[in-house]
Amino acid sequence: MRRLIVSDIHGNLEALEAVARDARGLYDEVACCGDIVDYGASPREAIAWIRAAGAMVVRGNHDRAAWEPGLRESFTPAARIAAEWCAHVLSAQDLEWLRGLPAGPIWGDEFGLAHGSPEDEDTYLESTADVRGIDLLLQRSLCFFGHTHVQGGWEWQPGGIRRMSGPSAGEPERVVELDPDALYLINPGSVGQPRDRDPRAAYAIWNSAQRLLAYRRVPYDIEFAQRRIVAAGLPRSLALRLAVGR
Ligand code: ZN
Repeated sequence: MRRLIVSDIHGNLEALEAVARDARGLYDEVACCGDIVDYGASPREAIAWIRAAGAMVVRGNHDRAAWEPGLRESFTPAARIAAEWCAHVLSAQDLEWLRGLPAGPIWGDEFGLAHGSPEDEDTYLESTADVRGIDLLLQRSLCFFGHTHVQGGWEWQPGGIRRMSGPSAGEPERVVELDPDALYLINPGSVGQPRDRDPRAAYAIWNSAQRLLAYRRVPYDIEFAQRRIVAAGLPRSLALRLAVGR
């Protein structure tokens, strides 16, 4: 089975469509680590795309903030404005669908899905210190996660933990063969608001038969996405950061 793994789409339809075009023919199913909405100008379209794909999905904190207003109090001012705008433009059916999304982690036959840490859906896994002991919580040898908007992850071997990373600037992909005896936490990166200094949309393809993981990046029309964010009346900072990937 070949799966397209996406995370942190954040209502960026231009980035999502670029990923879908780039990945065409490379996958059979879709899995999503949450944060489908907020920040970008197209939360409804992003939800529609994920639903049409029949994706396996866990909720992100921004998916939750759409129907749980109290959560927005912990957000930055720009994120709070975006969450309020998003809750206003989503339909009752969109909100109901978001409300029905499961909290991570969820465990499929071949892998798990989480938004933040498999220990707690809202916890950011940013450093190797953050993931120590998390291997004990993995019910499959592979778990995908998001939340940090940084492509990469970690591999556990008997000898220790190794950090993994995506392609460098200019490279379209980095392919890694996963060791059947190791454990993995893999972040496909953010489709719609990368924060790893590479503004290209990020995603991953997991081929379970060949045990090949491809971290991929694809350029998209950032200027158009920025214009739509500004035209929607969302904070300019949300548009500007797309160009720098931070
Ligand atoms: Zn996010």
